[in-house]
Amino acid sequence: MHEKCGVVGISLEDRSAARPLYYSLYALQHRGQESAGIVTHDGFQQHSHVEMGLVGDVFDEDDLAQLNGSNGIGHVRYPTAGSVNACCAQPFSVSFKSGSLGLSHNGNLVNTPDIRSELADLGHAFTSDGDTEVIAHDLARNLLESDLVRAVKRTMNRIHGSYSLTIMHDDTVLGVRDPQGNRPLCIGDLGDGYVLASESAAIDTLDGELVRDVQPGELVVLHPDGTGYDTYQLVDADSTAHCFFEHVYFARPDSNIDEKLVYDVRRELGRKLYEENGIDTDVVLPVPDSGRAFASGYADAAQDAGADVDFAEGLMKNRYVGRTFIMPTQDERERAVRLKLNPIKNTVEGKSVTLIDDSIVRGTTSTQLVQLMRDAGAEEVHVRIGAPPIIAPCYMGIDMASREELIAADKSIEEIREEIKADSLSYLSIDAIADALDSTRGDLCLGCVTGEYPYDIEDEATDREVNRPTIEPSPADD
Ligand code: SF4
Repeated sequence: MHEKCGVVGISLEDRSAARPLYYSLYALQHRGQESAGIVTHDGFQQHSHVEMGLVGDVFDEDDLAQLNGSNGIGHVRYPTAGSVNACCAQPFSVSFKSGSLGLSHNGNLVNTPDIRSELADLGHAFTSDGDTEVIAHDLARNLLESDLVRAVKRTMNRIHGSYSLTIMHDDTVLGVRDPQGNRPLCIGDLGDGYVLASESAAIDTLDGELVRDVQPGELVVLHPDGTGYDTYQLVDADSTAHCFFEHVYFARPDSNIDEKLVYDVRRELGRKLYEENGIDTDVVLPVPDSGRAFASGYADAAQDAGADVDFAEGLMKNRYVGRTFIMPTQDERERAVRLKLNPIKNTVEGKSVTLIDDSIVRGTTSTQLVQLMRDAGAEEVHVRIGAPPIIAPCYMGIDMASREELIAADKSIEEIREEIKADSLSYLSIDAIADALDSTRGDLCLGCVTGEYPYDIEDEATDREVNRPTIEPSPADD
C-alpha cells in the first residue's frame, strides 16, 4: 500500500517561501517518493522546480535560490491517477488570461473523464492524463468569469471524489478540502505567516503552531502578505468520509489529523485489538514500523488485564533497502523480506509470540514473517491485525491492490490463517475503529473494508446518499 501525495502551501510576511516549503516536503516525504516540486510567486511571476525523485535529490541550493517569492505551494507524489512520468509530477502550473495558477492535489477524482471531455469540447488541450490538470483547467475557466472564491466553489460543485488541494492563483495561496474531508489538510501559524499542509508534522518541522484542521468543504485563503487568512465554508455535506487508513497506516504517528494524534489512535486501536481478540503469549512483537504503536497499546492492555507478557522488538528493519532493490528471480524476491526484516533470535526462541501488524494486503509478507518467527525458534506464532480485513480496492488515491490481489477479498479469516500458516489470526472490528476515532461508521470512508464507498463510483456500491454532479456544457450555478 502506498499513500498518494502530500501537499503544502505557505504565505510569509517578508522572507522567501522556498526553504520552508522544502523542509515541509521533507516532513511529508512518506506520502510520496516518485516526484517532488515547488512553485513560488514573487508578485510578478511564477517560479517552478518540479522533478522526478526524492525531495533531497530534486532540489539543490541553486534550485531553492531561484524559487523567488514569499508565497508558494509544494507537492510530493506517488502516482495514483495518471501515468508514472514527469508530465504528471506536481505542482501543476498553467498561465491563462487572468493570471497564473499552480495546483497540488492529494486524492483522486472519480468523475474526471466527464469534465475532461466537456473541457476538451470547449477547446482545452491537456498535456497529461492526470486529474489535477483537469481541476486546474476547470478552475482557470471559472476564474475568467468569477472572483476567486466563486470560481473555486464552481469547480467544487463539478468535481466528485477525494481531494485536498493547495492552489496558488498569482501570489494568493489557498487550500481546499473535499466536502466529505476524505484526505487531511491543516492550517499552521508560523509567526510571520501561515502554512497549509497535509499533516501537522510539516508545521512542527517549521517550528509553527497547529491552528486547526481545514474543515470538509472549506476554502482557506492565505493573505499574500502573510498577515492572516480568510475562510469560506463553500460546500456542506450531510456526512464526512474521513479515510480511517490515514490513522491506521499512512500518516506519521506524530501528526494530528482531524483533532486526533495518530500515535494515540494507534495505541488505542492496539488496546481494542487485545480487548476484542487478545491471546496471552510470552511476548508481543510489532512488525516495524507502523505496527509499533499498535503493539505497545496491545501489550499495555494485556498487562492491565494481568497477563504475564513482554513487549519486545523482535524484528529489526534494514532502513537501506529501498524500492530500487533488484529482485530478478522468485527465490531472490522471497529473500527480500530477510533483507528488510531480521528476527532477534533471543526474543522469540522457545516462546509463544504475538505478531502485531497494521494490515494484510496480499498476504505474502505475513506468510514470510510467520515463517521467519518459526525459523528463529518461536513455538507458536499468533497474528493480530489493527484493522479490519481489506476486501476491496481504494478509488480515493491509495495505491492498494486490485480485488484479485487482495487475500481477504475471497477468503475467510480461517482460510487466510491457513495460508499464512499462523497458529491464530484476528483482525480489529470496524466498530472498534469508529470508537477509537470518536466517530461513526457513517462519517468514515470504509470502502476498502466493506466494498461500499462514500462516493458514486462506477460499478461499485455506495454506503450513503450521494450523486455525481451532472457535467453540463455550460458553467454551473454558483
Ligand atoms: S477506501 Fe480505504 S484506503 Fe481508500 S480512502 Fe477509503 S478508507 Fe482510505
